[in-house]
Amino acid sequence: MTQTQIATTALLTATTAAAGALTYAALSAQSQFFGKLLIATNNPNQIALTYDDGPNDIVTERLLEVLARHQTRASFFLIGRYVQQRPAIARDLAAAGHLIGNHTMTHPWLAWQSPARIREELTRCNAAIEDSLGIPVRYFRAPHGARRPAVLRIGHELGLTPVQWNILPGDWKPLSPREIANRTLRGILRNQRQNRSSNIVLHDGGQAGLGQPRLPSVEATSLILQHYKNQPEIRFVTIDSWT
Ligand SMILES: [Zn+2]
Repeated sequence: MTQTQIATTALLTATTAAAGALTYAALSAQSQFFGKLLIATNNPNQIALTYDDGPNDIVTERLLEVLARHQTRASFFLIGRYVQQRPAIARDLAAAGHLIGNHTMTHPWLAWQSPARIREELTRCNAAIEDSLGIPVRYFRAPHGARRPAVLRIGHELGLTPVQWNILPGDWKPLSPREIANRTLRGILRNQRQNRSSNIVLHDGGQAGLGQPRLPSVEATSLILQHYKNQPEIRFVTIDSWT
């Protein structure tokens, strides 16, 4: 290694450490000053199925069929530009009684955006949903869950409650429906042992564009709902029932 390389390595190491400290400060400040993140309640028998990144061709409609068959309502965090492209699917979701939330206009990492851009992403998605559905939006989920105090403050100013999760089965990976369902069921059991309700993130679309292949997530949903079919104490709820 030359002297220059050594100096560069030292500089990179120092920069990385500083960035890590800043990230830590941002997250810790958030937990100190912004308490209200909707995740779950202390009722272990309640389960919220939530779906991000739709509406999406074919997948969302199939999912609607599965949920209807089981008379189950879910929560959908929609990407605004897809709502503009597929307003009919978004209307079908609302007409079936599912909760509709904001997942930004274009799905950026909000934590690293300027306050103006954060506001624009949330406001434009709200407008897309309200124009298509004629209903006000009261909840948002930050893409990737990435947030900083400004994200939560601006959301609050827009009347939006931030929603996180406590089960992330990773259904964007190439997993079988059975594996997605098993990961979810294990998460629910873990929450139940801790007297927590479950807030599950699945995906009916993807940030890369319309047409993402998410049918395994639909099939997994069917398996999860079948699993609890004979357990009347288990209730599938929408996240607004926790506020
Ligand atoms: Zn997303």
